[in-house]
Amino acid sequence: MAARKEGGRTAARKAAPEETLPGVDEARAALLPALDARLDRPRGFLLAMRREPPQLLHLEGGEQSSRVALALWWAALLNCEGDGDEPCLACPSCLRTGALMHPDVFLLDGRSASIKIDEVRALRPLLGEKPRFGRRRVIILAEAQALGVEAANSLLKVLEDPSPDTCFVFTAPQRERLLPTLVSRGWVLTLPWPDPARPLPESLETWERALARFVSEGRGWFDLTQARGALDASGAMHVVLVGEKALADRLAGRAAGPLSTVFSALPEELLPELDDAFSRCQEALLSQVNPLLALDAMAARLHRLVRTGAKARA
Ligand SMILES: [Zn+2]
Repeated sequence: MAARKEGGRTAARKAAPEETLPGVDEARAALLPALDARLDRPRGFLLAMRREPPQLLHLEGGEQSSRVALALWWAALLNCEGDGDEPCLACPSCLRTGALMHPDVFLLDGRSASIKIDEVRALRPLLGEKPRFGRRRVIILAEAQALGVEAANSLLKVLEDPSPDTCFVFTAPQRERLLPTLVSRGWVLTLPWPDPARPLPESLETWERALARFVSEGRGWFDLTQARGALDASGAMHVVLVGEKALADRLAGRAAGPLSTVFSALPEELLPELDDAFSRCQEALLSQVNPLLALDAMAARLHRLVRTGAKARA
């Protein structure tokens, strides 16, 4: 059975492995947005998790098109028949995944209407079975904020009784749009800011200003992070993305905000280290380290780098 869009909604359809394969162009068109250079890091995390994929993965942030394409790319990665590290986008499994014709890949699509309880219920009998064609059954809830309350509760029951061959992927603009009980059962991967040139939301500007000041002067940061409950992991991930955005601005020669202005004084050879500092902080946040401690460590490393840069210029 395969998830296949019909009239804007998802329906199930039989697809035998010997069936004519979908065209390469159709399949690739669905997966290519996932290959955008801005998604290099999230793809890297997914590659690292492929051997032991989490039962539930959340993809938040970025743009809707990147979230959904990355969810399909993850499904392709888990079932690719090629022997490379990344999905080959050419084998029968990758082609079927991209064309939404894979017998083990299901897409419940909340992009244009809410996801109904009947769609969730229809999955349940499958979960006791082995995948039919691939190694893993992958169930994608595209824009899972469109889950009705009943459907979400039904899904929670499914998740309480895990089936080792089945992986779920939820995409949503922000994890706060989902039931906390669903979020807490999964891994959350936050995609980078969609448009680096777009200004930041106001709530993050305070954090950016504080980080910029600390990075250049070594003051004012810990007051902010020591306030109890200042940020949860989601908020902390957004602060890291603010840093990445500032680095992207620096690389593009834009002094768009206080942090990119600080970074603009840094020599080129230190920029990969900034990148690494953001990467490590994201890894720490994904592995449930206290979010404020992870941010403190990142801020301290950025401060050391900026001091090194200043010494090199002197
Ligand atoms: Zn493949």
